Amino acid sequence: MAADATYGLVIGGVESEAAETEALLDPSTNRPIARVAVGTPEDARQAMESAQAAFESSDWAGGDGTKRSRALLRLAHLLEEQQEEFARSETQNMGKTLRESRIDVGFVVRTLEYVAGLADKIQGETIPVPGSRFNYTVREPLGVTVHIAPWNYPLLLAMRSVAPALAAGNTVVLKPASLTPVTAVRLARLARAAGIPDGVLNVVPGPGGRLGAALLRDPRCRSVSFTGSGEVGRTVAALAAERLLPAMLELGGKSPVVVLPDADLDRAARGVAQGIFGNAGQMCWAGSRLIVHESVRTPLLDKLRGIAEAMRLGPGAEEGSEMGPLVSRGQERRVLEYVEVARADGGQIVTGGTKASRAELAEGNFVAPTVVADLPEGSRAAREEIFGPVLATFAFREVEDAVRLANQGPYGLFAAVWTRDLATAHTLARRLDAGMVVVNEPPLTFPQTPFGGFKESGLGSEQGSHVVEGYTRVKNVLVNVGLPKRKG
Ligand code: NAD
Repeated sequence: MAADATYGLVIGGVESEAAETEALLDPSTNRPIARVAVGTPEDARQAMESAQAAFESSDWAGGDGTKRSRALLRLAHLLEEQQEEFARSETQNMGKTLRESRIDVGFVVRTLEYVAGLADKIQGETIPVPGSRFNYTVREPLGVTVHIAPWNYPLLLAMRSVAPALAAGNTVVLKPASLTPVTAVRLARLARAAGIPDGVLNVVPGPGGRLGAALLRDPRCRSVSFTGSGEVGRTVAALAAERLLPAMLELGGKSPVVVLPDADLDRAARGVAQGIFGNAGQMCWAGSRLIVHESVRTPLLDKLRGIAEAMRLGPGAEEGSEMGPLVSRGQERRVLEYVEVARADGGQIVTGGTKASRAELAEGNFVAPTVVADLPEGSRAAREEIFGPVLATFAFREVEDAVRLANQGPYGLFAAVWTRDLATAHTLARRLDAGMVVVNEPPLTFPQTPFGGFKESGLGSEQGSHVVEGYTRVKNVLVNVGLPKRKG
């Protein structure tokens, strides 16, 4: 990406420069890499208008879905052909390692293929009713759907909701996170090449505080899909409530990982590390609270320290980097502040707790993988989402204590269990208050499996076979067919 590259507003199939632009920084150096449009409420209005016009005038919404299915498949194929370029853009803009970006782009390709397979299978039902009447349902697209995405998986989380909304025949306005708009704009360019009609996918980069209300209060907006923090999620929910818009909310977490005494400790250690140091810990479903049986606490912490200290931190684009920088200086500050809170509350830093030590990384936002022990349960660092590579660890004696610890707090996004015992695995899967539970795995998901949180981690779920229908509305039709009554 050249420093003079510009990413504009994509409205009605045309990419235009905005009156205002701002610099995007490479998180591994904090040097500028490109400029991006800063959208205004007027840009938001135009994007909504363009999406509404495309909804009404193109044949995207109508028909049997075959056309949408084929267009989404073409988009998937084009994206797959450009997987490496997209991965490099994502890495340079967001900081994650190239390996991680390649996986993310691959996930988007699979998501597009998956929803393309559902686009021509949206159907209603016929319902027997009394008398000479015919009753049936029709599933219709909602209209213009708004999608607001965070910066931690920029393309993946944007397309996780945009792709099914498109498959269902909606037209879309996407607002990527201000820090990471590059791949969303690139994807909108690709959508044209895939034959998706102009105005079906619009992208308006810019600050959420300025654009959110303009998008959601627009009378053409028919639903909102938001992925981000609980704080902004509440603002979005309040805006949605003003117009009774359906709102899909994918919010934060402080997810527990329960390690039982019979677990395979080597695998568990690798899985725990991946679940908190992957994407430099900037994952909504990071396994950020380790709840380990007291009998295996010391060996597990030793293994985790070994893994953390052997991890190679470096610019995401450098082959061999195992952990990239945090997305911004602000995020780095926030994470290091939480480490100070942990220290002040009596937590012991088992490893990390500082900026990365290698001098050549000083300009970037690199924080060493960090493990904290002996943190009081009530500490803010034990309860709040840190969104960085910081693992808080707790010991338990009885399984009941593990369940209590795991389920405490406002979140319920994800939980992991490490055990060799099948009965324990299934019992805990049932008792853990989380929208997703994995057993003997790091956090892992697929386009075909639902992704969503309980409690304050969200409302509704993305992915899975129900997802395309989630972007439709049901109409019931009753027809009196006027048949004469049968005699006798
Ligand atoms: P954020 O809430 O700060 O921002 C998310 C998006 O909302 C951005 O596009 C931002 O510009 C926009 N926004 C900000 N203010 C707004 C407003 N007033 N109205 C409308 N939109 C507004 O979140 P973030 O810092 O980008 O991402 C990190 C958070 O996202 C973490 O809490 C993480 O757990 C969560 N997250 C959740 C999931 C999930 O699937 N549950 C996935 C990834 C991230």
